Amino acid sequence: MSIAPATSTLISPEDAGFASLQAETAIRSISARIIAAPTRRKHKLSNTSVNHQGYIFVEVTLENGVVGYGEGSTLGGPRWAEESVEAMKANIDAYIAPALIGHPACELERAAKLMAGACKRNNSAKSAVDMALLDATGKTLGVPAHVLLGGAQHQSFSAIWALASGDAAQEVEEAQGMIEKGWFNRFKIKLGFADPATDLGRLAALQKALPAGTDIIADVNQGWSEADCIRYLPRLEDLGVSLIEQPLPADQMAGMARVAQRSAIPIMMDEGVFTPAEAFDGCAKAAGSVISLKLCKHGGVHQLKQVAGIARAAGVQLYGGCLLESSIGASAHLHAFSTLPALEWGTEHFGPKILVEDLTREGLVYENFRVHLPEGPGLGITPDPDRLDRYEIKD
Ligand SMILES: [Mg+2]
Repeated sequence: MSIAPATSTLISPEDAGFASLQAETAIRSISARIIAAPTRRKHKLSNTSVNHQGYIFVEVTLENGVVGYGEGSTLGGPRWAEESVEAMKANIDAYIAPALIGHPACELERAAKLMAGACKRNNSAKSAVDMALLDATGKTLGVPAHVLLGGAQHQSFSAIWALASGDAAQEVEEAQGMIEKGWFNRFKIKLGFADPATDLGRLAALQKALPAGTDIIADVNQGWSEADCIRYLPRLEDLGVSLIEQPLPADQMAGMARVAQRSAIPIMMDEGVFTPAEAFDGCAKAAGSVISLKLCKHGGVHQLKQVAGIARAAGVQLYGGCLLESSIGASAHLHAFSTLPALEWGTEHFGPKILVEDLTREGLVYENFRVHLPEGPGLGITPDPDRLDRYEIKD
């Protein structure tokens, strides 16, 4: 018996439809602007403090005239990680844009490879361009961005608000206000910028003031030593903290593993896991049982999904982290998160609500303590040109 040769229903590269899509989505130009958007209150971390949030705003124009938008964010310059908005703009203008001009935006994996060849790391700059390509391709095809990533399995996510003023009374009032509005009823408190005893006083005040059983996560932003952890982990346990984020410096994976082994509370890797290789290393060393996903760390939606896949294979849970992205960057994260089998810890993406003004016309929907996946082609958001003009930092 002979077996008939298989016939493929896939569009061949020679197919006129595919060739015309490649031509239509060829990248004509890429521009990057620096934005400083005011925040409603000071946001403090273990090593910095901001009252304006810095973004790089990317516009990619295709040969068919469609424009895609993306955003990279930092916290207070190159302190949270090595990138600043100024460096992102310089590297996009000089290296990333020239490598991509003329190539089809619809070939996202190839674009990621071209960007990797054009510059090392620079993950936030790459992710800003990557999300603009995703937006432009989705708009060209008339489909939401998540369709290009495998399709949404979730339409909304449990949302977490970060408390980071350092003032216990203000933080209690802010948390209560978020519960009243129906926006957030889970909270992450930033530790590590005062001595641990003072920080724990803020945490105790919060735990006492909020309804019993309120989920409280502690983010140390690399601010403690292993000795601090040994001493203070039992106190965090007594206060009912559900998760501890990156207590040790990013490069102390072995120390994180010892802390994770000792801790009765799950430990989350954040600054220690940027690349898929770092995710593999962290999982192999058991440096935590949760990973925080962020496009600015992973360098694009496909790399984020690689990190998520490594975590899933290792039995490590996932958390949707943020770096105070506006509705533009947040929407790209929600599209990527929506395609994952599970995002066990929900997501932050409170950035749009900490800004004095949303940078998009629609804004994201926050209701019943959940943030919703935007609808419509591409990322499903429209940047507000007047607000971007107002907050642009020009030379
Ligand atoms: Mg963090």
